[in-house]
Amino acid sequence: MNRNDFPILNEKVYGKTLVYLDNAATTQKPQVVIDALSDYYRRINSNIHRGVHCLSQLATNEFEQAREAVRQYIHAASTQEVIFTRGATESINLVAASFGRTYLHAGDEVIVSEMEHHSNIVPWELACEDRGATLKVLPFNDKGELMLRELETLITERTKIVAVAHVSNSLGTVNPIEEVIRIAHSHNVPVLIDGAQAVAHCPVDVQALDCDFYCFSGHKMYAPMGIGVMYGKAQWLNEMQPYQGGGEMIKDVTFEKTTYNELPYKFEAGTPSVGDVIGLRKAIEYIGGIGLANIAAHEQELLAYTTEKLARIDGMRFIGEASHKTGVISFLVGDTHPYDMGVLLDHQGIAVRTGHHCTQPVMTHFGIPGTIRASFALYNTFEEADALVDAVVKAKNMLS
Ligand code: PMP
Repeated sequence: MNRNDFPILNEKVYGKTLVYLDNAATTQKPQVVIDALSDYYRRINSNIHRGVHCLSQLATNEFEQAREAVRQYIHAASTQEVIFTRGATESINLVAASFGRTYLHAGDEVIVSEMEHHSNIVPWELACEDRGATLKVLPFNDKGELMLRELETLITERTKIVAVAHVSNSLGTVNPIEEVIRIAHSHNVPVLIDGAQAVAHCPVDVQALDCDFYCFSGHKMYAPMGIGVMYGKAQWLNEMQPYQGGGEMIKDVTFEKTTYNELPYKFEAGTPSVGDVIGLRKAIEYIGGIGLANIAAHEQELLAYTTEKLARIDGMRFIGEASHKTGVISFLVGDTHPYDMGVLLDHQGIAVRTGHHCTQPVMTHFGIPGTIRASFALYNTFEEADALVDAVVKAKNMLS
């Protein structure tokens, strides 16, 4: 599927054609995104929103058109609810800090799940520490599925927010976030969804979901690094205190009393990464041209095919066997260390990730140091899946 749009896929590593299966870490970029970046710097680079000159107006228009493209992509009600950040990590830190400062008090509670990426744990730990609140954990079962029934008992009248991943980056689990949101809302508790592993793999409609916050990174959806989105319902964002202070986020500054700009600018202090925002729009258009449903179907076929072939290898142990998964396969083989396996796969031209994948509590749950993780994107092929399986067999034989 459209492999030739991605120049890096023709690169060789150790003289072998690259088999790139580390897409959960970051996806490769199509030529249209690469061109959009250089085009921006060649034609219209200038600072936005404050210039009267032509280039500044052109750049501002493109920047705001990108915001509209994001709004459509996630079906937000208004562009006021689309805040540009550096990535999912910054988006979650923004919410944890600003929401925390506004609503969290001593004795309050925050709930995260056991399968969260560190970037949806640590910002909440910091906020809880700062405010004297307590962090509570929604567990998952040994298949890697959230134990939703526990949520009802975890939520109390002191619960201020629930923060859960849409898709787990180390297990591949697609969480029943509709249900999480329904349960939390029935107790008047807002929900933040970490969508970093979802936005490039399944359609997201923040209004249909009715989530309060939805955070993601551009670089995992074929866009440049350094750009991300924090979607938040205007009702929260209007009340929340700003995250960072600086230019652009203010209305009037005095030494006595500063007033803040309207949404979305209130949460966008300083000069944003304009070229990357424009690149994100190109990536959204690129995904739209192929169709998210087609991408999802292709990745599901790759997931089923590869899982079935890997399962035939003696000693294969899958970490994460939820009934609803994206194209993420975490595994261990016999008693080989994931790092050793990763190095031997790399020498065969196969790029996978090994380690805890920034989800140490998941590794603790299973009592393992880490996993080998293969993760798919729209350009991966069945031949690459075969190459992975062959390489794992070879590596296993070398290690045992
Ligand atoms: N959440 C999840 C589920 C992720 O997979 C990642 C990236 N591995 C992040 C958050 C953080 O994204 P970023 O590093 O792009 O800010």
